[in-house]
Amino acid sequence: MPSPSLWRHVLRNNFTDWRALAKYLQLDDTQLQQLSHDRRFATNVPMRLASKMAKGSLDDPITRQFLPHVQEEIQFPGYSCNPVGDEESRLAPRLLHKYHGRALLLTTSACAMHCRFCFRQHFDYANGGDRSFAKELEIIRAESSLREIILSGGDPLSLDDRELGFLLRELDSIPHVKHLRFHSRFPIGIPERIDDAFLEILTSTSLQLWFVLHVNHPHELDDDVLTAMERLRGIGVQILSQTVLLQGVNDDVDTLEALCLRLVDHGIVPYYMHQLDRTEGTAHFEVDEKCGGELVRELEARLPGYAIPRYVREVAGQASKSAVMVTSEYSLLN
Ligand SMILES: *Cc1c(COP(=O)(O)O)cnc(C)c1O
Ligand code: SF4
Repeated sequence: MPSPSLWRHVLRNNFTDWRALAKYLQLDDTQLQQLSHDRRFATNVPMRLASKMAKGSLDDPITRQFLPHVQEEIQFPGYSCNPVGDEESRLAPRLLHKYHGRALLLTTSACAMHCRFCFRQHFDYANGGDRSFAKELEIIRAESSLREIILSGGDPLSLDDRELGFLLRELDSIPHVKHLRFHSRFPIGIPERIDDAFLEILTSTSLQLWFVLHVNHPHELDDDVLTAMERLRGIGVQILSQTVLLQGVNDDVDTLEALCLRLVDHGIVPYYMHQLDRTEGTAHFEVDEKCGGELVRELEARLPGYAIPRYVREVAGQASKSAVMVTSEYSLLN
């Protein structure tokens, strides 16, 4: 029997009990009362992230993203369990096709961490379904317009190497599929995932590889994380980032500037900054689009164009992500 990978071992040490995490963070009684005990979307936080959280505070930008807050239990009109029309674009249990030329494979529901703002936290992944992706691969094979497959989830890096290797070989054997993209947040919590075995799987494919790292705050980008991303870049993978604009986490220009600079300093191109998808339980994270637009304008005054992500939101039924207005029109209108 091969010994379990290091990253599996690290994953097993995640905080999965909000009480244990609260204790570790030395929260007082008043703060404890602000935590949600709702078990619907369980607490799941890697040690690495917990160790970055300021003790005795609920306002730390990392803490805010991962500790369940009572505000999650408040229902708001307009916040739903299917905010971006995923259900309508589902070709097979694990395949979404919204945009021309690319389709998204929901490889797994598992993640290295549970982000409280996640727009797929209510998603029905059809778990226990077919893990061989037979139906999904059959559709991809038959649809010659699909040049790119995006591995998403959940987090595709939760799959073990055997499953990933199988998927990559299958996709590599489809002539019209040229690009393979990972959408992942895994290295932020467990950079050990980018190990030799994973790199070997990637080097053995002829698909062109893109890796979109989900990162929201510069504190998430420590040296180990950046080294892991550099290893990926070293084997020719293009690295992009995506960020969700989150109230109390990154909704100020200094934080966004620091994030973008840290990314480009390490060869990672900021790709998208997403307006929050209106998922039930996440209203307290929303930043007004007008404020978001102002933030981007301020970034434009400070950074080169390639260091600024495109500010977009997802509108169900549209042919692509939609740009959020960043021009001075807002100031003219208001
Ligand atoms: C966001 C998304 C994509 C990727 O869109 P790009 O603009 O190419 O980054 C593809 N499929 C689905 C279903 C998506 O939600
Ligand atoms: S890692 Fe991604 S998919 Fe998983 S909970 Fe966080 S935002 Fe959602």
